[in-house]
Amino acid sequence: MPYTIHNHCTQCGSCVPECPMGAIQVEHQHYWIDPALCDNCATVAGGPQCVIHCPIEMPPSPLKAKKGRWKENDRVATSPDLFLNGKTNTFASAIVMWEGCNLLAQRQSLPWQRDATGTFYYERQVKQGRGQLRFWLRAEAFSLMAAGTAPSPSPPTVEANSCVAKAPASIASIEKLDIRSACLHLIYAAHAVALDHPWEQTFVISDRQIEQYLGLDKRRDLNKTAKIILIRELVQQSCGLDVEVHWPQQGRIPKFSILRSPLWHLQEIQPNLQEDEAGRRHLVGMTFHIQAGQWAKYFLNQSGCKEGSAFYQYGLLPRSLLQTVMGIWQQHEGAARIMLWFLFKSKLGMEQRITVPTLMRVAYGQETLQQGYSHREDRKRLLRTFEGDLEVLNHYGLKPIFDPETYPPEIQPLWAKLADLPEDAEEALEFWMMDGGNSSRLTDAAPRGKWNRLMQARILRLEIPPDWQQRSSKRDKQRNRSRTKTANKKTVTTPRSLSGEQIVAARKQLGMSQRSLAEKTGKSQSWIRDVENGRFRIKLQDQNLLKKVLGLS
Ligand code: SF4
Ligand code: SF4
Repeated sequence: MPYTIHNHCTQCGSCVPECPMGAIQVEHQHYWIDPALCDNCATVAGGPQCVIHCPIEMPPSPLKAKKGRWKENDRVATSPDLFLNGKTNTFASAIVMWEGCNLLAQRQSLPWQRDATGTFYYERQVKQGRGQLRFWLRAEAFSLMAAGTAPSPSPPTVEANSCVAKAPASIASIEKLDIRSACLHLIYAAHAVALDHPWEQTFVISDRQIEQYLGLDKRRDLNKTAKIILIRELVQQSCGLDVEVHWPQQGRIPKFSILRSPLWHLQEIQPNLQEDEAGRRHLVGMTFHIQAGQWAKYFLNQSGCKEGSAFYQYGLLPRSLLQTVMGIWQQHEGAARIMLWFLFKSKLGMEQRITVPTLMRVAYGQETLQQGYSHREDRKRLLRTFEGDLEVLNHYGLKPIFDPETYPPEIQPLWAKLADLPEDAEEALEFWMMDGGNSSRLTDAAPRGKWNRLMQARILRLEIPPDWQQRSSKRDKQRNRSRTKTANKKTVTTPRSLSGEQIVAARKQLGMSQRSLAEKTGKSQSWIRDVENGRFRIKLQDQNLLKKVLGLS
């Protein structure tokens, strides 16, 4: 149990140098003990040093968790809450944000390189190699975790931060990053988009806001102090990235370079302390002051975009994504990585063919994939994990649509094949009987050469859950308008589209199961179920086919 300082403290400061953990901090000339750092002097002979060296009658004492709610006291005003509609918020979605998110999620799995000084960096080529992004992790992002609340350097007043902070010396330190810090990075990207000049303005977020965005407010297994400590660690890690950008000329926008500077400036962390009836100081909250780095001047500049000198790139951040990542990161890290990666990928368009090796690289890294190629046992393990992660994605609404040519049912995961299992008991029985009569059964072992076939397989796209729908950009709106015009023209000659209800009614009238309709139309049973549930518009060609088989005029 950590110790806490009493309100009789005379601020003499004698205890500060004696604390072996550096846990005693000062806030507005009041001393307090950071519960994340205090270990009760468990390994120090003589016990708590702050108690031994305190000259007053009421020295620091063990902190007892206060039961019940804390009264609201004056807290620093924060920036407006995100997710006002309960579901989504705009966020900065430039490639700098994407790669920052990938770095925090994929960590040591990325191809890190070392420069001449032995410093690790991650580089991504852009625009066919005409430009580059480079990222570093500042060592202080890790030392901060140990040292408590010291903020990162103030934002530079000049364009580039010439003082180059030390980066971690080993991949082992990069491994210590917590994937959940990627969620904080996305939260900052959502706050930054609300500012006119985010590279000059600060936004303020409280632990309470972050708790709600991440769904931590519903966690009963963590007490208030544990949540605050976790949030602070994630904030510090996500603010530990430096970026350097070299961007080539793109249309009217001239080429530009941003020298190495922080992606996010963590300007200040303010603890919120309250005293209980016995005068003991408790940490009841924290407020974080953050500013976007210089990248925002080039990629999140609305007025610059109008003038043609900068980009203004944003997308829609679903709150459910943050909460899902917070829920699955431990058991299904690969699925969490794919989700975070796909948030940006989906912005590039709906038709996104993705090869299985690309997804595996995102989820587990190149090295793990390479091991799969070389070792049978690793391959089996990787396949199991991959299929499980695809199932998790499917469960959370990112339904993989397998390419029927390269990713046919015999190499698909069992859960995907069982998606065809009818809900109706009689139909389900018929399903299994028919399956039993087939030369190959759904539950058969994987065919030989499954791995090699998977390495050539593609997923046509991951369906996006309804709350992931991107807000239409100007270009999308124009595209949609022209599509609508074309569609309107077509409606003159196109017959009325077939609804899901009509299909169900016609099928049942013929006493046909979903499976037999699937066989008669040459479609999969899950396709039939999806059209019956109205999950997508049916192509004209398929409508004609269904009408023919169902005898509809
Ligand atoms: S009990 Fe030990 S570790 Fe905790 S604040 Fe006091 S001196 Fe520091
Ligand atoms: S807790 Fe005791 S030693 Fe520490 S500053 Fe207060 S009075 Fe001084």
